[in-house]
Amino acid sequence: ANTLRLGSATGHDRLLGGLLVDGMDERSCHSRYQSAMYSRNAGRQPSRYLVSKLRRHEALQRRCGPGTAAYKDAAEQLRSGKSHAGPGTGSPDCKYLVSISYRGLGNRILAAASAFLYAVLTDRVLLVDPSNEMDELFCEPFPGTTWILPPDFPLTGYTNFSIDTAESYGNMLKRKVLDAASTTTTAQAQQLPAFAYVNLDHHLTDEDKMFFCDEDQRVLRDIRWLVMRTDSYIVPGLFLATGFQAELDLLFPEPDAVFHHLGRYLFHPNNHVWGLVTRYHDAYLAAASQRVGIQVRVFGGQESPEVLEQITTCAQKEGLLPEVLAAGIEPSPTPARKSKAVLVTSLKAWYYEKIKSVYWEQATATGEAVGVHQPSHEEHQRFGAKSHDTKAWAEMYLLSLTDVLVTSGWSTFGYVAQGLGGLRPWVMYRPENISLVQDPPCVRDLSMEPCFHTPPFYDCRTKQGADTGKIVPHVRHCQDVSWGLKLV
Ligand code: GDP
Repeated sequence: ANTLRLGSATGHDRLLGGLLVDGMDERSCHSRYQSAMYSRNAGRQPSRYLVSKLRRHEALQRRCGPGTAAYKDAAEQLRSGKSHAGPGTGSPDCKYLVSISYRGLGNRILAAASAFLYAVLTDRVLLVDPSNEMDELFCEPFPGTTWILPPDFPLTGYTNFSIDTAESYGNMLKRKVLDAASTTTTAQAQQLPAFAYVNLDHHLTDEDKMFFCDEDQRVLRDIRWLVMRTDSYIVPGLFLATGFQAELDLLFPEPDAVFHHLGRYLFHPNNHVWGLVTRYHDAYLAAASQRVGIQVRVFGGQESPEVLEQITTCAQKEGLLPEVLAAGIEPSPTPARKSKAVLVTSLKAWYYEKIKSVYWEQATATGEAVGVHQPSHEEHQRFGAKSHDTKAWAEMYLLSLTDVLVTSGWSTFGYVAQGLGGLRPWVMYRPENISLVQDPPCVRDLSMEPCFHTPPFYDCRTKQGADTGKIVPHVRHCQDVSWGLKLV
């Protein structure tokens, strides 16, 4: 309670401009209302429209969520395999989106944020599959209800749904069970399946990608249960669908801050993770004049002197880290010493050790003191290990609290950090061969938004292949993944 009072006394906006609702239990989730105190960057303000939409969505989650009569009824209908609708009954009151998040933590967070936005746009209750630790790392985002899918969910095999699942939207199109071009909605309503699986895994077919077209959205709208699997940030794809555009403009007048708002709304570290974040922050980062985050994601592994050179050249050329004097040369004394705290995150300790020794063994040209820190080095990426995920989450969050950020291209881990922190990072190009020096080493990113790695290349209006980076003004190609799409 003391720290919270301190927070409001020093003008921190604990509700993030109305993004968060007041009055949720603080003891069970310290991070929710304390996070504003830890960030020096105030972040973006949500639109009033977004704030009111979130409050309405929370009411929907409470009205239709687990434990309600509406949920029981909808689950029963799914169990029976029957379609909800007789002719002319239209869309049911409570509709659901089950989101399956998988792969690394960055992927899982981007998937859940994407599913949430889709749920908001289509007035569906979002329920997340609890496997893969999705029920263990975060606080509940919605007041008075749970976003975790109950264990008695009737579709028993849903976690194994894949590109081959017969009930996937793409496969139902292929088999002509569904027909998006048909305009006879009433007749269609009779034949709608009880559920559809939306396969937006990185392994997806052209039919699966029809999800991003308006006509297909009109069919999906009336299906009561959708199960979605993705490992990507599909939001730029939603901006391509004309049917969502007016609503998206109102929700996000600044389209380069969509994940920034969704992420800060949804993902509050649980108390254990928050302890890791705040203790580390207070001990190593809080006192510095500036905090520099460096996220080193070396795909495939070994320590590479060339990647080290890429990191230091990028940071020094862009003025994020000071140059050093030749060994043995002493700097002229400077009166008010500034300090930088560098937070390195990586699976390996090697990069951190090298950078740290540079600033220990040689003086900086600016006279600044540079402290280099790395919370953990887990050595190998592992799936489904709890303490591993806990550290990854704490480190992503710590990176988001820095003042300037260097990330590794292609990494969803870095995307989450930059988006939560409201930071437009310097992104290091991913080397095709880690023993080659990258020149230039990095580029300032176009925006803080994550990149959608597997977007459609199809214009729904002309029904032809098209460069989707050129259709809508705010959807552009990413700098790290040339065919990817991001909001700017
Ligand atoms: P991506 O593979 O870079 O897109 O990021 P993901 O977060 O989806 O998957 C990588 C996983 O490897 C993370 O979730 C962590 O479990 C682990 N990992 C990668 N880099 C780091 C790091 O710097 N620190 C920690 N603690 N774990 C990491």
